[in-house]
Amino acid sequence: MVSYIEDHIPKTTPFNRRPALPMTATTITIHNTGNPSSSAKNERTWLTNQTNNRQASFHIVVDEHGAIECLPLNENAWHSGDGNGSTSGNRTSIGIEICESGDYAKTLENAAQLVANMLNQRGWGVDRLRRHYDWNGKVCPRLMHSGGTWEGWVTFKAMVAAKLQPPKEEVEDKLVLTNNQWEQLGAAVQSLLDKGVINDKTWVDKIKSKKLTLSEISFLNTIVLSRK
Ligand SMILES: [Zn+2]
Repeated sequence: MVSYIEDHIPKTTPFNRRPALPMTATTITIHNTGNPSSSAKNERTWLTNQTNNRQASFHIVVDEHGAIECLPLNENAWHSGDGNGSTSGNRTSIGIEICESGDYAKTLENAAQLVANMLNQRGWGVDRLRRHYDWNGKVCPRLMHSGGTWEGWVTFKAMVAAKLQPPKEEVEDKLVLTNNQWEQLGAAVQSLLDKGVINDKTWVDKIKSKKLTLSEISFLNTIVLSRK
């Protein structure tokens, strides 16, 4: 698990960094901080630093040590540079800053695990992930730009995908038989009825309509064996 700390900036933070506009997120947007020496703690501290005169904000910042949630995930942050419109990244997407400081491989691992957890919680796939670039063309997350091929982005999404829970397989309880086998089964169960080994005629009805399940035939088998 990735350490996760909630340390929200106040709504009174200057420059409208926490406007507290309600948000129902539909995507998660990935950024790099653009600062090779800034840790998650530094990034959180900067949001409430007196000398910070920028509007920019984000929801979560992650580094080698863990993640800090700086704004609630049901409020918007200013991270995607595409304005205030109802379909903008700023109003629809959770912004995650990936630090460039320290052990970047560990940071990336933490980020992938964090994002996978968030997707799992929401029942989302990696198709819900966005780059900052997707909103306004900024080269961000810059460490995934790979000189323009965005290979690093493809790799990151694959890291996340590998950590996603497999879709829950439906319990397959269908009995698959040929017509001839259904008929044989029907005849066999009918003869059990005739002999009085079983006395519930609905078994035959279920077989005639081919609705008998694997569980039921297993149950029936056990009952018949016990009465022999
Ligand atoms: Zn960005």
